Amino acid sequence: MRCLMCGKPMTKETFADLFREEDVLCADCRDGWKRISRRFRFRGRKAFALYEYNAAFSSCLLQFKECGDEALKTAFLYPDRRLLKRMYRGRTLLLLPSSEEKEKERGFSHLRELFEGIGLPMTEPFLKTGEKSQKSLGRKERHEMARGIILKPGVALPRRCVLADDVITTGSTMKGALSVLPEGLDIRIFACALTPSHTSEDSLNA
Ligand SMILES: [Zn+2]
Repeated sequence: MRCLMCGKPMTKETFADLFREEDVLCADCRDGWKRISRRFRFRGRKAFALYEYNAAFSSCLLQFKECGDEALKTAFLYPDRRLLKRMYRGRTLLLLPSSEEKEKERGFSHLRELFEGIGLPMTEPFLKTGEKSQKSLGRKERHEMARGIILKPGVALPRRCVLADDVITTGSTMKGALSVLPEGLDIRIFACALTPSHTSEDSLNA
């Protein structure tokens, strides 16, 4: 088997390699990822991120999303699937939206691909705005639209959920999603990676 990022053949040479089962990245490529396993607060909600959004992570994500390299999907969450399943047992993942146009070009929903290996129920209740004619919306929906994101009309929401995204950069998509969810839900936040500039709690609570 060859590493999906650099193409180097992968051999099990060291004792540790024997335990790196099923990884689609070689040890060198994996070493470029910075593991942070960071628990933090996002707008007062419990949040968790696995990696820092650095160059190695971002080029892998880009290859997966923009180059349509679907085989890379297990590079991100598959190694932590048991941890995440335990952590979020009894919750439903609410996947954040990406632009529908981009998804069509890509031919697959990249977040669904990323998260399906965990084995938790998931739903895609949001729409990015600009994809629906404003005329067809009521006043409340138009107001929500100003925040860049709306709930799909009539969507059923689980009470216990996890807002899940690949990366939190500015946090604006996540904030938009939080702002359109009804009160009374038990919400956690998860992102596979977090930008270094936002790893301080204050910047995310602002
Ligand atoms: Zn590699």
